[in-house]
Amino acid sequence: MAGLGALIDAVYDSLNAEELLSKVKEGSWQTFFHHSASVAAIAYRLGKLLKKGANGVAKLSIKEIEERVKCEYENILFLSGLAHDFAKVFGVGEEGRKRIREILEELPCGRNEGLAEVIENLARTAEASYTPELDENLLSFVSPVIRVADTLMSLRSVDEAIPRLESSNEVRKLKEFGIRFGFVKTSPPSILQIKISRRVVELLKDRGWIPLAVYYDGLVVAGDPGSRPVRFSELYEKVVQEISSVFGTEALLKEIVGGLKKRALLNLYQLLEQAKEPLKSEEGVDDRTKVLYYYHAIITEYLNGNLNQAAELFKGLKKTIDPRTMATGLRGKGSIYFADELRKAVTTSESIADFIARASEEERFLLLAYLMAYPSEDAEPLGVEGLRPLANKVPRGRELLRILSIAEAYKLSKRPSDEVKAKVGELLKHVRVGVSVEPYIRMYLSQTIKSNVIEAPPEPPTGGWDAKAFTYCRICGTPLVDEGLRFIDYARDLEALGGASEIWLPDDVPLGDLESIAKEARRICPLCYYEARQLKGRYSPPFLVLAFHPVVAYDLWLWVEGRVSSLAEVAPRAKERTRDFAELLAGILESSGKLSRNSKEVGEGRSPEKLLEKLVGELRGKGRKAPIVLLDSLGARVVVSAGGGYAVKRKNVALLLTVAPLLVSVAGGGQVGIVATLADSYNLGSGQTPIQTPHPVAFVNTVVELFEGIRMRAIRERRDLRAREYAVYNRSYFTVLLATYIYGLKVLGWWSGAGGVDLEDYAHEMLTFTYSIPYLPLALSAPPPPRLDPRRGADQPLQYFGQVILSSRRVEELMGQARELAKGERPTPVDRVLWDYAVNLAELDSGLSRYAAQKPLRRAIELLLQYAEVLGEESAKNITTDIFLQQVALTAGVDLDKAVKKVKDNEGKEKEESYRVLMYRTFRNLADAILTLRKELPPQHFRGLVEVLLDSAYEKYRWRVREERKKQTQPAPVPPGSGLDVHEEERKKRSS
Ligand SMILES: [Zn+2]
Repeated sequence: MAGLGALIDAVYDSLNAEELLSKVKEGSWQTFFHHSASVAAIAYRLGKLLKKGANGVAKLSIKEIEERVKCEYENILFLSGLAHDFAKVFGVGEEGRKRIREILEELPCGRNEGLAEVIENLARTAEASYTPELDENLLSFVSPVIRVADTLMSLRSVDEAIPRLESSNEVRKLKEFGIRFGFVKTSPPSILQIKISRRVVELLKDRGWIPLAVYYDGLVVAGDPGSRPVRFSELYEKVVQEISSVFGTEALLKEIVGGLKKRALLNLYQLLEQAKEPLKSEEGVDDRTKVLYYYHAIITEYLNGNLNQAAELFKGLKKTIDPRTMATGLRGKGSIYFADELRKAVTTSESIADFIARASEEERFLLLAYLMAYPSEDAEPLGVEGLRPLANKVPRGRELLRILSIAEAYKLSKRPSDEVKAKVGELLKHVRVGVSVEPYIRMYLSQTIKSNVIEAPPEPPTGGWDAKAFTYCRICGTPLVDEGLRFIDYARDLEALGGASEIWLPDDVPLGDLESIAKEARRICPLCYYEARQLKGRYSPPFLVLAFHPVVAYDLWLWVEGRVSSLAEVAPRAKERTRDFAELLAGILESSGKLSRNSKEVGEGRSPEKLLEKLVGELRGKGRKAPIVLLDSLGARVVVSAGGGYAVKRKNVALLLTVAPLLVSVAGGGQVGIVATLADSYNLGSGQTPIQTPHPVAFVNTVVELFEGIRMRAIRERRDLRAREYAVYNRSYFTVLLATYIYGLKVLGWWSGAGGVDLEDYAHEMLTFTYSIPYLPLALSAPPPPRLDPRRGADQPLQYFGQVILSSRRVEELMGQARELAKGERPTPVDRVLWDYAVNLAELDSGLSRYAAQKPLRRAIELLLQYAEVLGEESAKNITTDIFLQQVALTAGVDLDKAVKKVKDNEGKEKEESYRVLMYRTFRNLADAILTLRKELPPQHFRGLVEVLLDSAYEKYRWRVREERKKQTQPAPVPPGSGLDVHEEERKKRSS
């Protein structure tokens, strides 16, 4: 049986790009794939649970369904879930039904005629209510499951999901069969939270909870009567593991041991190991050795139970060894105690105890002696409280206590590990272990993770944490239960010392000594310090985020993760490999917007999937460190560190925008954002557009607004969207993506580094140029302005111009449809008309200069604008059309009436048409468009637009001429797609 991942793969492959990326929700950005594959996956999971737990009648019914439909229950649910919204995308007509069958045939059980019918009927019941063709079993065991899955996918947050699960009738039905629902709700993401998210899900799975749907704020799970809650301590342990992996308790303790091995403490240990009897001080040894012998004698007497003998010996001790020589002088001069050393580590006493318990006997002794005999300057030695009366009997009693503590440490180091661990835990209660993260982790978990399937954290100590609060964390506001860490360390770790205090803490006294305030008064909690360390290291902003918000099936999220992580890892490195990335974008545009594995769809050897594989392999190969991709399993987001700083500049956005849409099309949906902080990625799904950046991208907004206009119109007219409107409206996501791809292709494909122009600046200028042309399809298909032209006046082909022309035309077509529905006017497809001009002109004369190729248009447009003022639009059009035709005839040196071309009419019948007619039509259309734009645009913009129009016409002409020549020199058939379908069409028309 195919696993869920394989089923989802099959769905992705069976849909074409426009179907895949259809927008299916009016209120949020969910693509058809994102929504339907999610409903399918959730239904599948619920089905497996139901089947597992079913007994009695339920078991029989499920069996009966499987036998009758000849397909496994969970697969029936998957297919029905997938199909529940088919009508929305494919319509209810015969053609739609045909397409649905085609898609189902690609999937397991899909060739089953009976099943296809059942699924179609189910799709209808999921939308409306009862349909008599369905039998009782299907109504009880399939429809409700699909509806629960669909409901989960229609909500916007865990907050919305919880009450819905409690009140739904369908859920009640599932509960009768033993299904239980649970949730885990989280707060805005932090690196820590993202990093533990997968571990939390694993814990839940371990306890029998199946993750169903991920919202931006958490997870909904399902279980059966056997599922058990996760213990708090297990969760706690996971966080400890993560934190210690960053702060490195181990590394620090190893370093301390290394230092201690160079101290007199080690000599003492070796003496104790060699001789179990007290050593007498001998002549001829140096003073230090003499004292060591004394220490040894005292310790062995004590260990042998001769307390008084030990005290007597101590009286005879003339000198003592400087504690620094023994252990405390670990760092150059002065005494540094155990607690001081540990201050640098943000750690837990458990981690320390654990390390000591696991260490060798020698290492244990050293660490224990250091901990017990030299806890800190003023503190008494530890672990020998009962001996205090003895110490009082002798002078310099504290020194005796210190020696006896070393004896206790020696004794303890020989005990079994668990005893050592317990004892160390006890001792550490008396030593301030730097900053302990324990209470902070407890507070963090109790505040940020709320769940009905994870046990609540134990009660805080009597009086609560707050009662003990020293002050509050200056970053997150958590009450500090100890001194916390100095803010200045945070600032240092962010490498932002200068001005850091002013930026982050604006509430300071203006004339205060900032340095001393930073050191003394400002404290932060260790978890914020953890975040700072991480941000400074591998995860620095800005972040490129792919989010599946507001909700996605957990299994689809896993599938997405697998597909995008390698791409995400290399996306910020587009800079290093502009050519390869451009090639990839071009390949995807050829397969019209989707990552295709099918090289038949695109030119040979240009399968985007293969290109991507190759690119990722090469970029990873070059001494790449571990991936810098963070995967948030409790918030369905992929976070990629793009590195550059908190201030996200326009040019950063301009560059990241060239690769951001790649993530979305590889994943088949979702939102993509460029954000400065993780908090900005919390709910990317709430945005107005599927692409979000700190600096709005005007052309993305233009597309979205236009398509939203269709919906607005329906709202104004107080009605639902009609089928035809819906069909256009749901192309908005695809159109946004296509437009962004074209922009990306132009930047990555055309940048040459000539003139020392930095790639980011180039991207920024291209974006600005795109904004400056008020008619988007023309802006997208326009050749670069001279400053950005890689050819620098040389007569070379403009790379990828074919993909640019074709895709811009598709954008124009889609936007035209949207405009017609939103505003009720049918716009002239300017870009398409320019293409017609270029093609016809090239057929008449393929050797024209830029000046000559533009001349008829330029002359006619100029006159059109002049005459329109004086004579009115209709007369102006009539006069200038004649002038235009004369100019064309003159330029090309042909009689337009005699030159004819074979074309097909509306009914597909072939006929001959003269170039006069063709050019006449072209100019009339163009004239209409120009006159309309003139009224809509301010004059200064309009002038620029005409220039772009002329450049664009010439570039198309030139491209067309070159393509035709290529074809003549290479008679081999052009692979479908690479020659542009329009072009192909026309070629066929002429040759037949
Ligand atoms: Zn904090």
